[in-house]
Amino acid sequence: MERVFNFSAGPSMLPLEVLEKAKADLLNYQGTGMSVMEMSHRSPDYEPIIKGAEAALRRLMNIPENYKVLFLQGGASLQFAMVPLNLLSDHKCADYIVSGQFSKKAYQEAKKYGDMACAASSAGAGFTAVPEVKPSDIRPDADYVHMCFNNTIYGTKFYYIPETGNVPLVADMSSCICSEPVDVKKFGLIYAGAQKNIAPAGVTIVIVRDDLLGHAGETVPAMMDYKLMADNDSMYNTPPCWCIYMAKLVFEWLESIGGLEEIKRRNEYKAALLYDYLDSQDYFIAPVDKKSRSMMNVVFVTGEEELDKKFAKEASAAGLKNLKGHRSVGGMRASIYNAMPVEGVEALIKFMKEFAEKNPKSAQ
Ligand SMILES: *Cc1c(COP(=O)(O)O)cnc(C)c1O
Repeated sequence: MERVFNFSAGPSMLPLEVLEKAKADLLNYQGTGMSVMEMSHRSPDYEPIIKGAEAALRRLMNIPENYKVLFLQGGASLQFAMVPLNLLSDHKCADYIVSGQFSKKAYQEAKKYGDMACAASSAGAGFTAVPEVKPSDIRPDADYVHMCFNNTIYGTKFYYIPETGNVPLVADMSSCICSEPVDVKKFGLIYAGAQKNIAPAGVTIVIVRDDLLGHAGETVPAMMDYKLMADNDSMYNTPPCWCIYMAKLVFEWLESIGGLEEIKRRNEYKAALLYDYLDSQDYFIAPVDKKSRSMMNVVFVTGEEELDKKFAKEASAAGLKNLKGHRSVGGMRASIYNAMPVEGVEALIKFMKEFAEKNPKSAQ
């Protein structure tokens, strides 16, 4: 069967080796006579799966002992509420860095729970760059500072970690987790929905420092209390068993190729191919400020809406799927997460060159 190059922002491509492994084990997982999908989460066969997923992620990201790893549900969007519900102290104030749609949503959601301030925003620049955050932008008594590390929709990424002093930094890493090494110690909490770089949709990873647990108020639902989830090893209720199994396979695949250093090298290579091409011509325009360019989501436009539409349609027919930009931004977006092979990016560039030749702009 022919597989396409899927440039979707999420759910997105998974490594072929992982899909093949899952397929081989689908009906009879390692002699158990059943699929992982059919397995009790409390069974001795399942325990090594969830424990193994956590252990592999800890090795990959070099997660210190004093951080808990949680496998939750509700997507990254539920974290927009869980973060304030768990991290706000009695005076209930936190600061938000607004660098795109998801950080804006997180900010709006948090406003329901306390005194939220926007520490910095790049809305004025149409979110084509990330904001410069100075330590003086942060209120020293804030309970935490929230940021979105890679802005999936606008194709921007923080090229630095904001300095927040003693105020814990919380990062939404949904679209860049495991794409390169990060210094976990610099963050109080990292969260990520799985469906961009880790697994199918359905599990959300939370990496949280011990001292931030146990502050949820009495009215916080049990399912939204990090401490309860941590105390129960993410098995307070039935976890998303299959997704966690797939995450384990992806983490092991990353380890097998050489870990996050190696995937970073590959991701940089793929992104450079595409950005170098974009910079070498003037048919397609890359609107993002060079310093803030995302390695995962590459946004570009022709400048003519009709051509953009034609591009996405014809690319799809040529096996290059889901290149249409987000509905709020338009244009094109190529999401080139870990699982996108170099060949996919090469095929895209070849298609772009041919499209530019065949479709002169009306103004030219
Ligand atoms: C996709 C995405 C989200 C939303 O994730 P859900 O799992 O659909 O809730 C939030 N933040 C970022 C950065 C994303 O890329």
